[in-house]
Amino acid sequence: MSKRKLYITTAIDYVNASPHIGHALEKIQADVIARYYRLLDEEVFFLTGTDENSLKNVQAAEKERIDVKELVEKYAERFYQLKEALNLSFDDFIRTTEERHTKGAQKLWLACKEDIYKKTYKGLYCVGCEVFYKEGELINGLCPEHKTKPELIEEENYFFRLSKYQNELEKIIETDKIQIIPESRKNEVLSFIRSGLEDICISRSAERAKGWGIPVPDDPTQIIWVWFDALTNYITALGYAKDSEKFQEFWQENENKLHIIGKGISRFHCIYWPAILLSAKLSLPNTIFIHGYITVSGQKMSKSLGNVIDPFELVKRYGTDPVRYFLLREISPTEDGDFTDEKFRERYNADLAKGLGNLVARVITLATKLKTQNSELQLKTQNLKLKEKIDKTQEKYKKALEEFKFNEALISIWDLIHFCDKYIEEKRPWETKDPEVISDLLIALSNIAKLLKPFLPETSEKILEQLKTKESKPLFPRLSS
Ligand SMILES: [Zn+2]
Repeated sequence: MSKRKLYITTAIDYVNASPHIGHALEKIQADVIARYYRLLDEEVFFLTGTDENSLKNVQAAEKERIDVKELVEKYAERFYQLKEALNLSFDDFIRTTEERHTKGAQKLWLACKEDIYKKTYKGLYCVGCEVFYKEGELINGLCPEHKTKPELIEEENYFFRLSKYQNELEKIIETDKIQIIPESRKNEVLSFIRSGLEDICISRSAERAKGWGIPVPDDPTQIIWVWFDALTNYITALGYAKDSEKFQEFWQENENKLHIIGKGISRFHCIYWPAILLSAKLSLPNTIFIHGYITVSGQKMSKSLGNVIDPFELVKRYGTDPVRYFLLREISPTEDGDFTDEKFRERYNADLAKGLGNLVARVITLATKLKTQNSELQLKTQNLKLKEKIDKTQEKYKKALEEFKFNEALISIWDLIHFCDKYIEEKRPWETKDPEVISDLLIALSNIAKLLKPFLPETSEKILEQLKTKESKPLFPRLSS
């Protein structure tokens, strides 16, 4: 039997600035899912990348007084470097300025041709969002996402017949044919659909785009709207332009396609993207998981407030796994979460240095002192209470991960860690020198290391290594307060 396939994507990021920890959160969430299912022996393809055709990039380049190409090159590289900094296991990184993408985006445009028409349009455009807003969607006349005043724009553009798909989309979302997680976001999407879908503008004049972007096929005076272009990355990366085998296997014939995105772009992914796919008669994604935003000391991260947290800096200071741990444990998977340096250090000291680090050091030291040999180890513990605890932990962990509850999966592991601490206090192996107790603890530790693998891959390896060598090395040196 062939392996179950899983296709996981993150949003592709605008390259007008360096990544912040919000970007890091999304990539790490996707990475945990990818690693978890790979360990279950599924064939996983994990994609991330950069969205480079936005007008925002043109404006950012003007500000930095460099060429747009140079700007996107610089920041795309920065986003790629997250791979090493955060230990991400993605299989491919797509840039929307690549030929495989531009060709694919144009092909998809042509596949939607029946639903595309031209008309003159006047509307309020937010460059930050790259989207036209209706008067009623603005808050005090400002973009709800950027709090900036949109520009009034009038030009002749191409439109996509979104209205035609209203009923079909409603049914698809309602019946979870595309499952939107969490439920609250699904309800938001449904109410937006029920409020009535209007056709969307999917091009802009080449003049307004300053020549940057992907030209509309057969009409070089127009550039494909950056969202139509960007969404296409999920299939162009698989080789849609050439109708490759990978595209067939991971998109068309695959029932496990997962998009991981932030709450600000749910409309594009849950409504526009499926409509485009329906129009082109292509397969739909199966699951869309939507995370919240990270605030810093209760405030929105922004350049102007100067409170943007740089993931590279954080990793340099604390290491990769502590950053992964904090974002997955402290930040709610689906709601907004808050970052402060204090919270970070508290989590680090309490859970990593004291909780996990301490247990590993204690058990390995005991095993070394009492010379517990691997030959004395049974594969399964004979202690019923401990065995039951490990089984329960595995169940809870599995259920949590299937529901994208990263924090709950970690809580279940730390429950097991605390259980082991108590077990040591109860059994006092340093006095009794009971080899069976040490053996039980080594077994528990090996289970903990395996459960940690998708979350803290490096730490998991280190624990497994110490179990082999019985050489105790501190995992997380305590931070002074
Ligand atoms: Zn905006």
